[in-house]
Amino acid sequence: MARLTQADLVDLNQAFEHRTPQEILRWAKDIFGTRVAAISAMQEAGSVVCHMIHTTSVDIPVLFVDTGVNFQETLDTRDRLASEYGLRIVTLYPELTMEEQTAKHGILYLSVEGQKECCHKRKVEPLMKVADQYDAFVGSLRRAEGGKRAICPVLQIDTEMNSLRINPLALFTDEQLESYIHGHDVIVNPLHKQGFSTIGCNRCTTPVMPNEPKRAGRWRHLGPWSVYCGINPSDRDQTNSPAIDLPEDLIDRILGRKTDFVI
Ligand code: SF4
Repeated sequence: MARLTQADLVDLNQAFEHRTPQEILRWAKDIFGTRVAAISAMQEAGSVVCHMIHTTSVDIPVLFVDTGVNFQETLDTRDRLASEYGLRIVTLYPELTMEEQTAKHGILYLSVEGQKECCHKRKVEPLMKVADQYDAFVGSLRRAEGGKRAICPVLQIDTEMNSLRINPLALFTDEQLESYIHGHDVIVNPLHKQGFSTIGCNRCTTPVMPNEPKRAGRWRHLGPWSVYCGINPSDRDQTNSPAIDLPEDLIDRILGRKTDFVI
């Protein structure tokens, strides 16, 4: 094993500022093979990534965490993406059902500390259980989302999952996202048309008013609007020089030291 740091990725990240999401997805598949998966919560940016995986034929599986309290529309979107785009969507589950968790720990999501625990148990832990099967995860964060995501790089070290997080849509503006969705008639979660700008569990997500921040509907009962579930490294408080351990030859390939693959 060898260390890969965020600083090691500076040159590659600069190059990827000028690449299309599809080029970045092909790079990910070429470098990581079967050890890369996408993560989607079935929101519109995730649908765009799913559509790009479908149209570029990169055969990257999509991981979806069913917290047990997702909206039915979210589950239906997952099923449509799988059947109509032919995607391999892998559904992951928390250890306890929501009923079992509530019986054991009470209603966690009603307090700030409880929300962190609930999101960790129901969203992060299911992913952690499969983390050693992968070296990289494709996400759908965009800088246009603002907040902690406003500076998210295309390639980001994820110390918690000991993996590389790849954000092919990092530079996608709101206009580009909408244009792609309409231009390709992408399957999107119907809740977006009902005022949900972002979508999580049905216990903690509400629609937003037109003049509210996009994330105002998430954990509205906890406020202010800076709460995240902890799945994405951009949303966590990371150290200044995060690093992960990966096989040395894989790091050589990531950094282009031993590959003739040109992007
Ligand atoms: S969004 Fe709410 S219900 Fe879902 S895992 Fe987080 S705290 Fe629990």
